[in-house]
Amino acid sequence: MLIVSDEVCKAVIDRKAAFTAVENVFGAMARGDAYNFPVIREAIGYADALYGFKSGFDKAGKSLGLKSGGYWPGNVEKGLTNHQSTIFLFDPDTGQLAALVGGNYLTAVRTAASSSVSIAHLARKNSKVLGMVGAGHQAQFQLRSAAEQRDFEKVVAWNFHPDMLPALGKVAEELGLPFEAVEREQLGGEADVIITITSAHDSLMMRDWIKPGTHIACMGTDTKGKQEVDPALVAAATLFTDEVAQSISLGETQHAIASGAVKEGDITPIGAVINGDHPGRTSEDEITLFDGTGVGLQDLAVASVAAKLAQEQGKAQVVEL
Ligand code: NAD
Repeated sequence: MLIVSDEVCKAVIDRKAAFTAVENVFGAMARGDAYNFPVIREAIGYADALYGFKSGFDKAGKSLGLKSGGYWPGNVEKGLTNHQSTIFLFDPDTGQLAALVGGNYLTAVRTAASSSVSIAHLARKNSKVLGMVGAGHQAQFQLRSAAEQRDFEKVVAWNFHPDMLPALGKVAEELGLPFEAVEREQLGGEADVIITITSAHDSLMMRDWIKPGTHIACMGTDTKGKQEVDPALVAAATLFTDEVAQSISLGETQHAIASGAVKEGDITPIGAVINGDHPGRTSEDEITLFDGTGVGLQDLAVASVAAKLAQEQGKAQVVEL
């Protein structure tokens, strides 16, 4: 059995490896070769924590296991990340525990890879302006990864807490991209690609602010009750997601589904585009929206690659069971 720490994951998994792992598993999900098991998420009534499991099996990639973890709001005061997770991988042939893999860094890179896969497959090739709504922990990973998908010339950004924007601006500077903090309406009017990655519970981006041809990746809404964009925008867009069942229940489409503005059949798994079974964007004027809800199979995919590379490079701790 291998133990692969967060630090080792950082050393062995780069953005390209995460992108490929996530793209492959989305394709496998759409072919029916991989499926997620029902998610468990509970308020445990202690330390204000939310705790749960995301699990699944990818027959094509041979990943079986679960991500265990959640949200501990008091961690910041202890110098720790609020989100904590660990991935457990099992041998699909024997059921034996194969690896324990730190999940904090992997969660961020697999979430960034998810929006990047959507940009690679759905955004207009001539997209020049990237709009960032959100400037927290995930946003920096999102920006680095998105910047590799198109020849962006500028980043425009808005955040609920403006004091968090300079840190995101620093990432843009490192990437050689001009960075401008703007109001949301201006962001919608300028951006060709928009990523929303906040913990909002209300519409932040309105239908009328978005240009024709925009691709928007909604990445923050991963729980019932959360919301980042106007349901009218969801209804106006061609819709894609990682997993339809999650999208309609806890993802960004939940509100438009509840009002009847959108039906389950209007939403296409991004894997169908990856596999060539759906054309994806069909015109330069179409608004495409990717609802990235975050599935356990993404975690298993990147953790499997991390465990393999760590073992090959002698960086994994080996423990006899
Ligand atoms: P964070 O705490 O570092 O940042 C939170 C962000 O949300 C900041 O930009 C903050 O300003 C903003 N925010 C807080 N309250 C807000 C409000 N009322 N209205 C608008 N914006 C508000 O968190 P993070 O790790 O960057 O995560 C951001 C979001 O992404 C969370 O909602 C998290 O659950 C979600 N997430 C999704 C996935 C996925 O796979 N889809 C994976 C990881 C995290």
